[in-house]
Amino acid sequence: MRKKLTKEILEEWLENVRPFAYDGQVADYIPALSKQDPEDLAVSIYYLDGECIHAGKVENCFTLQSISKVIALALALIDNGEDYVFGRVGMEPTGDPFHSIYRLEQHRPSKPLNPMINAGALAVSNMIRGVTPDEKVGRLLSFIHEMTDDHSISFSREVASSEFETAFLNRSLLYYLKQHKVVTGSVEETLDAYTKQCSIELNVRHLSKIGALFANEGKDLHSGRQIIPKHFARICKTFMVTCGMYDASGAFAIKVGIPAKSGVSGGVLGSVNGFGGIAVYGPALDTKGNSVVGLKLIEMLSNRYDLSIF
Ligand code: GLU
Repeated sequence: MRKKLTKEILEEWLENVRPFAYDGQVADYIPALSKQDPEDLAVSIYYLDGECIHAGKVENCFTLQSISKVIALALALIDNGEDYVFGRVGMEPTGDPFHSIYRLEQHRPSKPLNPMINAGALAVSNMIRGVTPDEKVGRLLSFIHEMTDDHSISFSREVASSEFETAFLNRSLLYYLKQHKVVTGSVEETLDAYTKQCSIELNVRHLSKIGALFANEGKDLHSGRQIIPKHFARICKTFMVTCGMYDASGAFAIKVGIPAKSGVSGGVLGSVNGFGGIAVYGPALDTKGNSVVGLKLIEMLSNRYDLSIF
């Protein structure tokens, strides 16, 4: 078991990184996200023994955005098994921006390179069991309720419809994937499920608890129940290392060395075996799409407490 931080230290560190809250831009390509306040910062650590320490605006909920890709992948693996999922989506990092389209043309038969870029994540959403988008999203929410033990978690209709109305690139990706039989059924319905999935709202405490569950080999910390099979939890954490921080994943692995996934709302989820889950929220993003404050804070934590898995 690694050494624990105190709440006081966490509060002090959050104040140390506060000056960076404006060193970046809040995402605005999804119009509803532009309303986020760059100074709404929060951090939470969930230890494997069930203790949770946090600082900042802990009760503020934010949308998961790309962080949802990890959770959706876990559910798609449970629903369909590894062979089916990786028959349609690859396992290789890209080094390209998350919504890039051009590599889809470079492989025959066409296959998104991994489940953390949008093309792969759209295909994964399409694989989640459920006849209607609401059924798929309902199952994803139930999965999150189980992981967080909070049944009130839902999605933001405002953010979901704001993205749905403006998601021209994701629509293009989906039509391409449909043409090449990577996805089945209605494009609009898959986009509906995906935008609702990305708009699931929770706070840093919830997110750090999910990180701890992944760190605990997929088992609930309190009941010991296996919510995600160990092997699938490991697959998800491996993708977090190789492609979780967009096209900055390599530098992040070297500087920080923690399986992590960020989203354009400014959230970052981290999971460290033998330690627990980490979640940071800071809406201002760098040019790659990662939370500026989130990166700084996780790097400080990792260096100070020797959290690198390498
Ligand atoms: N819903 C967002 C999109 O597909 C998620 C992007 C992200 O967080 O990286 O554009």
